[in-house]
Amino acid sequence: MINIFQPSLGEEEIKALRKLFKTNWLGRGPIEKKFVDTISKKLKISSSSEGGYSFVQSKNLTTLNCCTEGLFQSMSLIGIGPGDEVILPSLSFVGAANAVIDCGATPVFCDVEVDTFNTTAKHIEPLITRNTKAVILLHYGGVPCDIYPIIELCKKHNIKVIEDNANSPFSSHKGRSTGTIGDYGIWSFDSMKMLVMGDGALFYAKNEDDIDKLKSLSYLGMTSKSGFDNVSSETWWEFEVNCAGRRSIINDINATLGMVQLEKIDGFISRRKLIHDLYCEELSDIENLYLPKPINSYDVSSYYLFHVRTPYRNKFAKYLRDNGIYVTLKYHPLHKVSFYKNNTIDKLWNKNLPNTDLIGDTAICLPLHQGLTDDEINKTIKLIKTFFNERIFQK
Ligand SMILES: *Cc1c(COP(=O)(O)O)cnc(C)c1O
Repeated sequence: MINIFQPSLGEEEIKALRKLFKTNWLGRGPIEKKFVDTISKKLKISSSSEGGYSFVQSKNLTTLNCCTEGLFQSMSLIGIGPGDEVILPSLSFVGAANAVIDCGATPVFCDVEVDTFNTTAKHIEPLITRNTKAVILLHYGGVPCDIYPIIELCKKHNIKVIEDNANSPFSSHKGRSTGTIGDYGIWSFDSMKMLVMGDGALFYAKNEDDIDKLKSLSYLGMTSKSGFDNVSSETWWEFEVNCAGRRSIINDINATLGMVQLEKIDGFISRRKLIHDLYCEELSDIENLYLPKPINSYDVSSYYLFHVRTPYRNKFAKYLRDNGIYVTLKYHPLHKVSFYKNNTIDKLWNKNLPNTDLIGDTAICLPLHQGLTDDEINKTIKLIKTFFNERIFQK
């Protein structure tokens, strides 16, 4: 079976883990710190007049055990609770809506554009009420959404912007890395993402005080160093706690994988771009098959997903699967999931999401990962052409 996603892990990761095992310290430690410092230098926040860039500072970042946890924690940091509303595309990851419901707030689903699957200020604005506290944005498939008009709109209404950056780890919009444009940004390094740690996430906050809070929220509420790290006290086993924090950290096993993957990620992205461009070129003139909009010249994608639309979607998906190519839709629209319907105040239940409905009925994502061989890509393209040109959907 040709997979839709697949991690690329090999000897380099094993070698680095072997070295880590010899240190006898697998918990969060020096490698996690090194990971944050290293990835921060890959995240651009502005371009200077000389054409250089400045980068995110480590004090605006922290790691977490997963991106879902980051979404939940962002609700705590903003102080969202019962009676509040959070706007997010129905075409979102399930954990985003769960985070909103878990804190007692109401998810309000917005529509997206049909050619990018990204939302816009135009879709968000009519849903804003006095109770709206945050917007959770997704840069679908790695392609940045048109975020500045959304930020402007949210500033006007005192609404926080959270970027779910799980699809777009190294994307940028007008020169700035996605995930660092809104108030908060969250990356995922789970086993199905591009940079794989097993599980893990990175959290960005515009306000570094939020990072200090989050560090304590995600590590038992600890405020001071204790144990081995406490070099200043004669009674080093004592500690202080400032909140009933959870323990949602990564360890140095995760960080070791992350460090090796960081060296490979640029290569992964170029291979993915090549496959993306080949799909665009080879599939552009097929009747009944609609491709994503070309990426804007001021945007850089991470090429996480490649989506197509066709009125014959179900037959098309089954045909590919029967021929050894696994395809799926990211993401099944949340407003079609009864749990969310039951957890949403009726008057806010936005039934009018025509573009999301169309996507839900006609879209599918094709295999896109750096491990695809040329033969596998050619086989996929050939089968797609056969399905449409020989009108297999009518058979
Ligand atoms: C995978 C994913 C997440 C969740 O990431 P985890 O690290 O597995 O919790 C969140 N949002 C999107 C868009 C994702 O694809």
